Amino acid sequence: MPDNSCSFPSLISDEALGNPIPQTIEATFSRLPDSAIRVVRILEAGGFEAWFVGGFVRDALLGRTCSDIDIASSASWQQAQTLFEASGLRTHETGVAHGTLTILVGDEAFEVTTYRRDGSYSDSRHPSSVEFVSSIEEDLARRDFTINAIAFHPDRGLLDPYGGIGDLREKTIRAVGDPAKRFSEDALRILRACRFAAQLGFDIEESTLFGMLSNKGIVYRVSAERITHELDRLLAAPFAGSALVKYVDVLSCVLPELVAMKGFEQHTPYHIYDVLEHTAHVVDGVPPYRLARWAALFHDMGKPACFFFGENGVGHFYGHANVSVTIARGIMSRLKMSPAFANRVLALVKHHDEVVEPTPRAVKRMLTRLDGDVELFHALCDLKRGDARGQAPHCAGRIDAASELERILDDIQAANEAFTLKSLAIDGRDVMGLGIPRGPEVGAALSRALDAVIDERVPNEKDALLEYLVK
Ligand code: ATP
Ligand code: MG
Repeated sequence: MPDNSCSFPSLISDEALGNPIPQTIEATFSRLPDSAIRVVRILEAGGFEAWFVGGFVRDALLGRTCSDIDIASSASWQQAQTLFEASGLRTHETGVAHGTLTILVGDEAFEVTTYRRDGSYSDSRHPSSVEFVSSIEEDLARRDFTINAIAFHPDRGLLDPYGGIGDLREKTIRAVGDPAKRFSEDALRILRACRFAAQLGFDIEESTLFGMLSNKGIVYRVSAERITHELDRLLAAPFAGSALVKYVDVLSCVLPELVAMKGFEQHTPYHIYDVLEHTAHVVDGVPPYRLARWAALFHDMGKPACFFFGENGVGHFYGHANVSVTIARGIMSRLKMSPAFANRVLALVKHHDEVVEPTPRAVKRMLTRLDGDVELFHALCDLKRGDARGQAPHCAGRIDAASELERILDDIQAANEAFTLKSLAIDGRDVMGLGIPRGPEVGAALSRALDAVIDERVPNEKDALLEYLVK
C-alpha cells in the first residue's frame, strides 16, 4: 500500500512557474473532477482495479493544469465497456487494439486503458504487439519517464515505484529502465524528453541523455507529423529557448540546421550571444503562439552561411534573411507543414530585419509587402521585439520602436486608410475601362495607384485615381 502521508507537496514550490503550493494530497488532487472519480468507482464496483496515471498525475503534483485524464485499469476494454454502458455512459472504441476505451461523462472524455506491457518494437516506433498484464506496477514499467510513471488513487494515494516524485522534486527527466533500450524501442520518446524539458524547465538525467544521443539516428523513423507535433509543443513551451541550447545535439536529428548556429559567434556590437543562443532568446522573447515561435527559430538560420569579417574585424551577414527563408522553406516542407502556414512564417523571416521607419507611409509599405495582412504585421512586430530582447542591452530601444509601429497601424486602421489593392477606390474593371487590356498590366496599374495613395500623392478617390493612371 503506498504511503498516503508522503510529503511530496512541498516539492511544488517553483515560483518561477507560478505554481501554487498545495498543502496536502487532497489539495493537490482537488482538481480531480467528480466525473473522473465516478469512472474509477464504476470499474471498482465491477470488481476491477483502477488508477489515475500519466500526465494528469505528474501535472497535479506540479500544480499545473492538465487537459487529459488517463486511467489505467485491470479490466479489459470489453469488460470496461460493459460496465460503463450498464451505468448509462457512452464509450468510444478509440484505441482498443492497445486496450484503450474512451468514456464520455457529459462532455468530458476519459481514456481508460487496460494494464499492459508493450511487446517487441520492430520499427523503433510501434510495439508489434501489446500484452495485457495484471498489475499496475507492470503497466507503469512500460511508461517513458519516471515523472510519467506515477499512479494515484483517491483512497490508496500515490504509487511511485520508479522514484518519479523525487525526480519531480529534482526537476529531472529520467527514463524508466535502461535508457538506451527504451529509446531504441520508441524513438519518439527522444523528442518527448526534449519537449518535457522545455515545458517543465527540467534537466534530462545524464544516462537518459546518453541513451537519447546514442539513439538519435533512428528518429528519422518517426513520422513527420509526429515530429512536428512535438516540435510545436517544444517551441510553445515556457523553457523552449533553454531546451534548444541544452539539447541541440539531440534536436539536430530533426533540425540539423541548428548545428551550424551552435557556437557561431557574431562579432558585432549588436550581439552578445552566438547565433543559437540569440535564437533561443528570441524564441523565448516572442509570445508563445505557433507562427511567432517558428519564425523566431528560423529568422537567423542563414547567418552562418552569410557571415564575413569586414575590414575592421566586425562581422556582417548581408542577405541572411533570404538565406534563412531558403533554409526554413526546406525544413517546413520536410516537416510537412501546411503551405499556408509556411508562407506566413517565411514572410516574417524575410522581413524580420527590414527597417520600418515610424511613419504611416513606411508602415503601409510594409503592410503591402505582407499582402495587407494586419495580423502578420503584428506578428512581425512581435518578432522584432523578440529579436531586440535577444540583442545587446543597448538595442533595447528597438522594442519600443516596434510598438510604435503598431500604434501607427492602429491609427491607419482607425482612419480606414488604404494599404491593399482591395481597399482602393478603383478596381480591375475601372482600370480596363481606361483601355488597359485584361492581364498583368491591370495589376501593375492598380499597384501604381496604391503607391500613389500611400505616398499621399493622390487621394483614394475614383476620379482622381483614374486621372492619375491616364497621365
Ligand atoms: P501530455 O498530455 O502533456 O502530452 P502526457 O505525459 O500525458 O503529457 P500522453 O501522450 O498523454 O502524455 O501520454 C500519457 C502517458 O502515457 C504518459 O504520461 C506516459 O506514461 C505514457 N506514454 C505516452 N507516450 C509514451 C511513449 N511513447 N512511450 C512510453 N510511454 C508513453
Ligand atoms: Mg496526456
